[in-house]
Amino acid sequence: MAENKDNKPGTGNRIQTWLCIALFVAFGYIMLKDDGENLNDKATYTQFKEYVSRGYVSNLVVYSNMNSMEMYIKPDSAMYVFGDRAANINPLSRPMLTVGVGSMDSFQEFIDNAESDGTFTGAVEYRKKSRTGMEVLISVLPFLILIGLWIFMSRKMTGGGPGGPGGVFSVGKSKARVYEKGKPDRVTFKDVAGQAEAKAEVEEIVEFLKNPKKYTDLGGKIPKGALLVGPPGTGKTLLAKAVAGEADVPFFSLSGSDFVEMFVGVGASRVRDLFHQAKEKSPCIIFIDEIDAVGRARGKNPSMGGNDERENTLNQLLTEMDGFGTNSGVIILAATNRVDILDKALLRAGRFDRQIHLDLPDLNERKEVFGVHLKPLKLDKDVDKDLLARQTPGFSGADIANVCNEAALIAARHDKKKVSKDDFLAAVDRIVGGLEKKTKVLTAKEKETIALHEAGHATLSWFLEYANPLIKVTIVPRGRALGAAWYLPEERQITTKEQMLDEMCATLGGRAAEELFTGHISSGAMNDLERVTRQSYGMIAYLGMSDSLPNMCYYSSTDEYAFQKPYSEKTAELIDNDVKALIASQYERAKSLLIEHQEGHHQLAQLLMEREVIFAEDVERIFGKRQWASRSDEILEDGVSGTDQATNTETTN
Ligand code: ADP
Ligand code: ZN
Repeated sequence: MAENKDNKPGTGNRIQTWLCIALFVAFGYIMLKDDGENLNDKATYTQFKEYVSRGYVSNLVVYSNMNSMEMYIKPDSAMYVFGDRAANINPLSRPMLTVGVGSMDSFQEFIDNAESDGTFTGAVEYRKKSRTGMEVLISVLPFLILIGLWIFMSRKMTGGGPGGPGGVFSVGKSKARVYEKGKPDRVTFKDVAGQAEAKAEVEEIVEFLKNPKKYTDLGGKIPKGALLVGPPGTGKTLLAKAVAGEADVPFFSLSGSDFVEMFVGVGASRVRDLFHQAKEKSPCIIFIDEIDAVGRARGKNPSMGGNDERENTLNQLLTEMDGFGTNSGVIILAATNRVDILDKALLRAGRFDRQIHLDLPDLNERKEVFGVHLKPLKLDKDVDKDLLARQTPGFSGADIANVCNEAALIAARHDKKKVSKDDFLAAVDRIVGGLEKKTKVLTAKEKETIALHEAGHATLSWFLEYANPLIKVTIVPRGRALGAAWYLPEERQITTKEQMLDEMCATLGGRAAEELFTGHISSGAMNDLERVTRQSYGMIAYLGMSDSLPNMCYYSSTDEYAFQKPYSEKTAELIDNDVKALIASQYERAKSLLIEHQEGHHQLAQLLMEREVIFAEDVERIFGKRQWASRSDEILEDGVSGTDQATNTETTN
């Protein structure tokens, strides 16, 4: 989502379009015209034999290299050959028909016979004919048209202007835009507001690039790549540029969709070219935006077909990443919003084995982003970053940049000298209008529901001994997932039944709070419910933790139950009932705990609505010190908005 490429159809394209149309018309005209002549001035070989034997033919001119001849008709026979049209024949020209000659030998034989029996007495002249310009043109025209079309199509496809990158002759070249080092307007970490965690993580990459020897001398391996994961507009491109800017190295930027072309092999060749270019400029950064466009998981079943071209490109990318040395100084950053759909091969060690998460900014971070983007504007005194940040929940960094730009435009439209608060509020309204269609912007009511929901989790985790100790709760939609996957039997860590029950209870706290305090239940708990359901199935069917099916495990580590359940219908029913009962009992437990600590819960929710994030200290102030010491430093960071984005990162394979 960096700057837009110049995609406007240039004049060059228009000229090409017309050129193609003109070629088509000319070709069609010639074909038709030619067809018309065929009727009049051509004769078949059979006709030729007939006319000769009837004595109509005066003489012949044979072009043996063209396998054709000109058959001249005696003027007094013209009416037999041409019928009424004979009258129109110019008396100065001699009436003539062209005849194709299939085999020179049989022609020779026929003529010899005709001459010997006296039916043909004229001259037979042998000539060599050079093609006329027109004939040459006609014979190459189809190729010209094809080539023209190809150029035209490929220009259309790649969207490049004439002579620019992406023309037909550079189709296999990478279209990477390069930002050279040492530019005065380079992007640095100062330009990236908020995203403190992400910045801290890429700091190390900057160090690698600046001072590779420090690491390699110790035998360390410099990482090859990192994935920047987060919703659109959160500054992934910006951060990648800032890494290059901080390290003062060249920055190659390309979008995943640039690799995917209609021509076979182009994607792979672009990848090759990109890495070739980058290696020459090392140390440097390669940035691949929207890597999911190429990096989508490959088809499981190769015979099912699928997008072979994209897979070739992906394979080439993997090959290149493996191919260059660990310490070659080229670091690849790639951006995506969907790690889950990426091919697992991309995430393997030595490839994109690090993930750096970028989230939508919370209140304070939005203030910082405004700080960055307000700087270049001439502001009225009444503009308050704090107020603007409050007005823009759910906005991404890019949306905020947009607000600032839009506000300046609005002010200019009203011939103002300075941009004022009203301009900003109008701009916010405008952007919200646009956003509501695209992404969800929270209404006050939704925000309240989410705050109650999250406060529910927070309250329960404070009062349940084994629940994830809480460090931070937020109602900003988050991309990051969290939560223990203790329902999986492979899990090395040992978890007791009590711990699992407490976890379940805390997870159900969100919905329980919604039901108790808003009177409604909402879709916001979907992920919680999914997790709880999976967990309780795990406890009962895999871990043998229920009374009706004690010590039974219907899990198979060898996958032999992949297509068939290892238990009877009756057992299935027992499992279902136990799961239902287990969840119901934890839900009741959650509700009664919430009622018990209702007052504190409401204070928490209030605080969340005001500040959007709260920390363990805030909860402690409200509820007093937690009865049990924290067992780990995990962050309880539950996603919200719509479908509660918090999920287990652990996968089930
Ligand atoms: P992404 O690549 O994540 O879609 P970009 O990096 O292209 O997002 O962001 C687009 C623009 O939004 C940036 O050029 C910048 O102006 C603004 N922006 C986004 N995030 C931030 C941020 N954290 N701080 C400052 N500006 C930001
Ligand atoms: Zn929840």
